[in-house]
Amino acid sequence: MKGFGMIKVDESGWFEVDEPVAGPLDAICKPIAVAPCSSDTHFLHGGSGPAENRILGHEAIAEVLEVGELVTKFKPGDKVIVPCTTPDWSEKGVQVKGGNNAHDIDTMTSFKFLAIKDGVFAEKFSVNYADANLVLLPDDVDVADALMITDMMSTGFYGVEMANVNFGDTVVVFGIGPVGLMAVAGAKLRGAGKIYATGSRPNCAELALEYGASEIISYKNGNTVEQILEKQNGEKVDCVIIAGGNSSTFNEALQLVKSNGYIGTINFYDIEDTFTVPTFLTGLGMADINIRGGFCPGGALRAEKLLKLIQNDRIHPGKTFNYEFHGFEKIEEAFKLMDEKPKDLIKPIIYTDDI
Ligand code: NDP
Ligand code: ZN
Repeated sequence: MKGFGMIKVDESGWFEVDEPVAGPLDAICKPIAVAPCSSDTHFLHGGSGPAENRILGHEAIAEVLEVGELVTKFKPGDKVIVPCTTPDWSEKGVQVKGGNNAHDIDTMTSFKFLAIKDGVFAEKFSVNYADANLVLLPDDVDVADALMITDMMSTGFYGVEMANVNFGDTVVVFGIGPVGLMAVAGAKLRGAGKIYATGSRPNCAELALEYGASEIISYKNGNTVEQILEKQNGEKVDCVIIAGGNSSTFNEALQLVKSNGYIGTINFYDIEDTFTVPTFLTGLGMADINIRGGFCPGGALRAEKLLKLIQNDRIHPGKTFNYEFHGFEKIEEAFKLMDEKPKDLIKPIIYTDDI
């Protein structure tokens, strides 16, 4: 079968791979709608180290084609939401019972697509622990909204959870790409008082304001920290969520957050990046700043909770898709768009239609 992926670092294309075979707990699915993620492009460019001949993609709404003999909740023909993080729920996956199930056996090993096996930009892909990882797509939920659950919404909202956003808090969200946009929307849902969000792409800025940002700060218009502190009359903020920027953004977050404050970072830093933190940014190590960096929580229970927010009109994350493609082969064009990030792009969606 055919798939689109990484041939080697910096080289993407189509190639043939063997069809996946269902183990007893697996489901074999075909994609109905998929989307590229910044992490796919980062991975292609060697951001997590070298790799080759790996099918990309980890965000999918799919149709179940076949299930393993121990799968009880799903059958061929079901339309499902496929979380990008699919933990191993066995006894050896002991950490899945903790607060975040992304680290089932080791750091981030619940992230199987792309990192451990082929991703979803293929005619077929397999999902491990189908009963505990898949969610039926309800008839009344739009496919684009549901697709955002698989990664962007879960990740952005996790940034909000790690940054401990509470009623009335002043929050900075670094980045208003799709992940930052979901962090803005999540911070609003959690009752943030004021939300500053950083970015420069106009469509992203417009949607960030719609999702609840109070002010957009362009890092291209000068020092981000100075711009925000000036608006704050020098007062630092309660929570910072990092969903964009570079390795110096981390130090900017430390310059912005109050003592006892929270920083939640969901950025995918490059394997070559190093944090160098001057001690004065942390009160010489004694400022009681809470810092957490985390990975997208996955599994069915998480996805079902996020689905409830959509079904109850709390959020419409599908607005983030501002480029729409039809046809499986359009994955390549959409992926290149994501890689190049033109100024008007927020995020593309591909409806496979014909496979
Ligand atoms: P985008 O590239 O679409 O968005 C990045 C945002 O950061 C843009 O708004 C950009 O502004 C802004 N930005 C860039 N440089 C700076 C800067 N110096 N200061 C302030 N803001 C800046 O990325 P995504 O939203 O798709 O993803 C965000 C990150 O999340 C990526 O690193 C991605 O790999 C990671 N990720 C992590 C996951 C996890 O589980 N932890 C899961 C999914 C993604 P501009 O408008 O100018 O482009
Ligand atoms: Zn991703």
